[in-house]
Order: sequence, then C-alpha cells, then structure tokens
Amino acid sequence: MNGYMGRMLWVDLTAGTIEPMPLDGELREKYVGGYGIGARILVDKIPAGADPLGPENVLGFITGPYTATDAVVGSRYVVVGKSPLTGGWGDANSGGYFGPALKQGGVDAVFFTGISEKPVYLLVEEGEAKLCDASGLWGMSVSATEDRLKEDLGKDARAAVIGPAGEKLSRIAAIMNDYGRAAGRSGLGAVMGSKRLKAIVARGKAKVPVADPERLKGLRSKASKQIKDGTGFSSFYTATGTAGYTVIGAESGDSPVKNWKGAAGVDYEYPKEFTYEAQEPHIEKRWGCYRCPIVCSRMVKVKDGFYAGAKGHIPEYETQSAYGSNVVNYDYRSVVKANEICNDQGLDTISAGATVAFAIECFEAGILTEKDTDGLKLDWGAHQSIVKLTEMIAERRAIGDLLAEGPVLAAQKLGKGAEAFAIHAGGSPLPMHDPRFEPTLAVIYRTNASPGRHTQACQYLLAPNHPVKDMPMFGQGTDVQEGRGKYIRVATAMAHIFNCVGTCLFAYLSLEMDMLIEQLSAITGKEWTFDELVETGERIENVRQAFNWKHGIRPMEVEISDRAIGVPPLKEGPTAGVTVDIEKLTAEYFEDMGWDVGTGRPSVERLKRLGIEELAPAFG
Ligand code: SF4
Repeated sequence: MNGYMGRMLWVDLTAGTIEPMPLDGELREKYVGGYGIGARILVDKIPAGADPLGPENVLGFITGPYTATDAVVGSRYVVVGKSPLTGGWGDANSGGYFGPALKQGGVDAVFFTGISEKPVYLLVEEGEAKLCDASGLWGMSVSATEDRLKEDLGKDARAAVIGPAGEKLSRIAAIMNDYGRAAGRSGLGAVMGSKRLKAIVARGKAKVPVADPERLKGLRSKASKQIKDGTGFSSFYTATGTAGYTVIGAESGDSPVKNWKGAAGVDYEYPKEFTYEAQEPHIEKRWGCYRCPIVCSRMVKVKDGFYAGAKGHIPEYETQSAYGSNVVNYDYRSVVKANEICNDQGLDTISAGATVAFAIECFEAGILTEKDTDGLKLDWGAHQSIVKLTEMIAERRAIGDLLAEGPVLAAQKLGKGAEAFAIHAGGSPLPMHDPRFEPTLAVIYRTNASPGRHTQACQYLLAPNHPVKDMPMFGQGTDVQEGRGKYIRVATAMAHIFNCVGTCLFAYLSLEMDMLIEQLSAITGKEWTFDELVETGERIENVRQAFNWKHGIRPMEVEISDRAIGVPPLKEGPTAGVTVDIEKLTAEYFEDMGWDVGTGRPSVERLKRLGIEELAPAFG
C-alpha cells in the first residue's frame, strides 16, 4: 500500500450514505492513481446514456502516489466524471494544497453519486467523512466560501469548492481550491452543482506510507538541486511561470488571435503590457503549491487605472491568451479582472475567454445584437465589455444565460452560421495552443478521450534524459508533417502517468526523467521502468476511450473546428499557409496505438497486451 492511504469513499448523496471502497493492488499497479484509477472505476459505474447532470453521473476526487509525500512535486489531485460539455470522459486537475490535505485526511479518493436534497459539503478527516449542511454557503463566491469554511473549521481546512457558476450548472464551470487554483476543464463544476455539493473540505496530519523514505528524501534533495541548477525548463518556471510565455506565444503563432481567424503580428501586434517586466509592478509576492521548490505562481493586485484593486493568482498563460490575443485585448489589467471574476465565480478561464471571443464574433456578424446583450456593445479589444460579459456569463444574465452553456451549445441554439465561430474539439473550447503552430495538437485535440486539451499529451514536455530521443520538439516547424504522429502514443502515455501520480507537468518539464521514475519507485517500492510507465499510460488512455465508446463517442467522429487546422490556411503571420494533415497524423498515431485507422477501435490483441481485454465489449 506504499504511496497510498488504502482508503477510498463512495458517497451516495441521494441516500446520504458514505461507504468505504477498497483500493486493491490491481487498481494501484495497473492504473497508478488519479484519473487512471478513476477511469477504471467509472467505466463500470456510470451507465451508458447517463445524463452528466443527473444522479447517475459519478464525480470523483482522486490523488496519486506522489501526493503529500516528500516527492518533488506531490501537490495535485484530479476530478473525474462524465463531462456535461462533451458528453464523454471528463477530467481536470489542480495543484495547491487541497489534494495533499485530502490524502493527509486519510483517504486517496472520494466518489459522489446521486443528488442531495439540499446543499451539502463533505468533511474528511482521519479517514472518516461526514456530510454537513451547506445551505448557508449556497450562492457564495469561491473566496467567501473558503473564508467561511476556514472560520468555521479552522485555518488548516482545505477545500475544493464551486462558485455560483457551478451552482447554476454552467457547462464551463470549474472546481476551485486555494482561492484561485482550478480543476477547470470538462465542465465538472456543473456536475458538482447538479449534485448540490458545494465543497469537499479536508484536513489532517496522516503520513503517507512510503516504501523507502530515506531514498525519497535523498531524491528530494537531488531534485531540488536539479531545479536550482536550471534543469529542463525549471529556470523559466522559477523566474516567471507561464506568465512569462504570453509574448512568446503571441509572436510565434502559438497563441490564437481574434477567435482563431487572425494572424499574429498582423491582427494582434506585440502586446507590450503582457511582457513579464510589465506585469511585475502588479506582483505582490511569489506563490507555490504544496512543498514545490519551483514556486511558479504569483499573487497580483492591479496598482492603478480602471481595474485598480483587481487581485488574485496571477493569470496563467492560458488565461492571458484567452483574454488577450484571442479577443485582441491589449489591456493587461482587464485580464487580471476577468481572471478574478472567473476564479471567484468558478468559471474555467480557457472556456470563458473562448466563449467571449465567440460572442464578439457573433456580434460582429449581427447574430447577436444589443437587444441580446442588455445593451452591451461587443467588439474586439473592448476590454470593459469583455469583463462585463464574463460577469454576465457567471451570473447567467441576459445573453450570459445562453453563453454559460459554452460556445458549441450556444451556437446550436443561435444558428445563422454561429457554429463556425465556436472553436472547439468535441464540444470543448480549445486551449491557447494552435495546431497550425504544432500540428500534432490537432490529433490530440480531436482524438484524446478528453478532447480539446493541451495537458493530455505533452510532446513538448521533453524531460531531460527522455529515452525517445528523436521525438520532435513542440513547435519545431510545420513543413514536415509526416512521421510526427507516431510519437503521440508515448507523449500521451507519459502525460497520463505524471497527471495520475499527483505531480505537476511543470515538474515533469523541470526534472530529469530518471528522477521522476525513481521517485515513484522509492514511494511505491516497485522499481518502475520507462517502458512500463508508457504501457501503463497507454492502458489508461484505452480505458478512457472505452468510457467514450460506451457513451457513444468514437474518436474519428469527434469534430474539430476548421480554423484550428488551417482550413482555409491563414494568409499572413508566422503560420501563414499551414494546413494540418490531420488524417495522416491521426493514421500514424492510431497505427502506433494498435487502433483501427478507420474507426479508432483498439485491436483485441492490443487490449490483451495491456491486460484490459475485459473491456473489449465496450468498443462494440
Ligand atoms: S510548478 Fe507551479 S503549478 Fe506546479 S506544483 Fe510548483 S507552484 Fe504548483
């Protein structure tokens, strides 16, 4: 049981019951933790056709073997469930302090089913849990909820909560912790809201059993030294965090511009307010997750201007681009304000920014008018209306009510050609990395079990000493598209592993690969190899795909917006002329995965090799 508390809880919110669940050896060894374990459980537990916002959906909060140990870094937890945004597999993950608190509270994972009659929160401590009345918290913002829980239960209480957006079932709602860290994607905040579950609160001092504590301690020292020495991308994360990437992304063509129809340097020029130096005057202090030596985040407060006083965690690159280049906004301070609103109301900033960009383009095309927007004039770069519209989405006010469904459903209801302005894969608004800059992203966005995600296959996260030496680096030219797709299997598998062990992908990028594997071995007592981890990650992806097949989603039938793959190609800018050969890249990936090139169905032989042949019937 090393690396785990050995205890999971099954909470039936309809019945108000809490039952322990075994975390058996097979689950631990074959699926490691996080959404690996979550997918294997939910593929059986959620019936085909279940309404994501109905009682049959299951919402799980799961840690991994790294979480709350001496490992660098063991800060994360994941949330899993059927996504109300895509209708298929959903997961999201977050750092901060909640994941470690859950594990130190004595449990590895909690799963919720059913719907509570009245608002509740779950309190976890010393391996036990109880449901508590949350009627007084319902309607409160994220920060007010966290404040109140700390007042009532003590400062050591750590909570994962929803804000009003999740309560109002916005399909782009996030689950928040630590006043602004987000399990943002997949719309799982709405699932939590549908269950009338306002929060999970955890606290405790339980020690996670570790196979070789001395070895892990030694590895922690070595890992901290690697970070100090600037291994991998650690200097970048330490110096600026992702906030330091915004201008690089905007200039290179990686960041989408003007709802993905514009060109970098043409429709969005050098955003000087977004350089890290320009952001620095607003930074109040550094902020890091649980025992992380990288400390990539910052706390900011806008010092002057119209948005003076706006504050919170520094907007990450994704937020800065979603509310910057993609809506042609040059006002950094307004991005801090939009970020504050999203974090406090519990909205995913990627999806919220993408939805605002969609609405602006609908307004430009006359599909939306001031009658729909309560008099608000929407336009590219009109930062005050961008901020206002974000508030309206969170409150579901006027057009915000429709937009809270996310751009794809909103477009379906609006019609008149609005569908072309909803830039997505499989219903999930795309993150701020453009396949016209890195073509393999198109395959990842379309065919991953959780579509439209940039953290599910990180071919750009090449840890030093990565054994696959010839894997092309992220963004290394689009001229040769052939021969790149085959690397997505390894990239997907390793991203799954590091998401599932409970570490941070920035640590993956900042440490030598041997270090990451050795830490897992020291924790669990099993000597892992790179190849075993790739096989485990591949197994996890196949189980997530089995979930989707069961719920009627086939990877080849998932739609990705034309603009994102260069149909038609841009005429100007650094990615001018690029059209992604998505079919060729997909075929290469599927062949490497042992999936049928026409349908994406895994071969029975491959399922057998991965030890999951029992899931063959799920693939039809
Ligand atoms: S690198 Fe940043 S996001 Fe990752 S654990 Fe450290 S502080 Fe948190």
